[in-house]
Amino acid sequence: MRLYKTIRSLLSHRARGRLTKLLYITGLKPRVNRNARSPFKTGVVVLSADFEMAWAFRFSRTRHTEAVEAGLHERKNLPLLLELFDRHSIPVTWATVGHLFLGECSKAQGETAHAGMPRPAFFTNKNWSFTSGDWYEHDPCSDLLRDPAWYASDLVDQILKSRAGHEFGCHTFSHADFTYSHCSGEMADAELDASIAAALSKGISMHSMVFPGGTFGNYESLVRKGFTCYRQPMKYHIDMCHTDQHGLVVIPSSIGLGRDHYGWDSKFHLRIIEKFLAAAARHRLVCHFWFHPSVDQWYLENVMPSVLSLIEVYRDRGQVSVMTMGDLADEYIRLQR
Ligand SMILES: [Zn+2]
Ligand SMILES: [Zn+2]
Repeated sequence: MRLYKTIRSLLSHRARGRLTKLLYITGLKPRVNRNARSPFKTGVVVLSADFEMAWAFRFSRTRHTEAVEAGLHERKNLPLLLELFDRHSIPVTWATVGHLFLGECSKAQGETAHAGMPRPAFFTNKNWSFTSGDWYEHDPCSDLLRDPAWYASDLVDQILKSRAGHEFGCHTFSHADFTYSHCSGEMADAELDASIAAALSKGISMHSMVFPGGTFGNYESLVRKGFTCYRQPMKYHIDMCHTDQHGLVVIPSSIGLGRDHYGWDSKFHLRIIEKFLAAAARHRLVCHFWFHPSVDQWYLENVMPSVLSLIEVYRDRGQVSVMTMGDLADEYIRLQR
């Protein structure tokens, strides 16, 4: 694996694209954990979405205007995505930034936004660089109508109303780095508490976690606050869940749905997806597709509908079951007993 990564890093962008394509064509990708034991009668397909709007782009290298633009793009896509999922009866786990459950927020004069929330110390990770100012400085402290990239209570309502049977998961309250190095236990508890309270105001309870930007940590907080599972990429793309040392169910993550960097056409995208589905079905393992609702327009129009149709075909043939993260974790625990 290390050798492969070294070789890959020496290649040009174009050559890297060709190599990945070759790995798929020759069957070396997706990597399947053939030794995994499955408690399920069929393969399992999970879809999760990182629902974050402008919050994911704070302190990133992206400029503020671009963060808002990305948030608004996500807002535009969401009803289209919901319509697609309804049409195919495919439920998604929406890993939602807690602030998006709100329709408004405000601050007292002279105070910072969400003054009661703990802040991280300044830090830099692979995604963000928080080296000055206040963690909540981008929060407009207004409402949905004035700043629609920062609030999404209306979109949450749309997800609640749709027929596909979606689940809401947690993506922290402020899209925080959740690692032990950049998030204290106290901050982790507060991030989860604020998310849980905001969700509860909509009658929603959450049990599944997606760590922002893959910042894994503070598992004890998740256990304390009643979470049961989280998403994590593993050595294999197609694998089975396992229970970690904290008793949380780790759900493997297979591939991100979205436009590639190599200019692949929709036919090739679909060919890849079919390989993931076929492997999951054949070995009765988990195939977990994740995506950003701000997904590129081309992908949304030309690939996503066919991906969902294909999942439906596999489901209708009885080769896979489609589950939310929370349902999969519950079912996995039940079958272990
Ligand atoms: Zn706010
Ligand atoms: Zn995120």
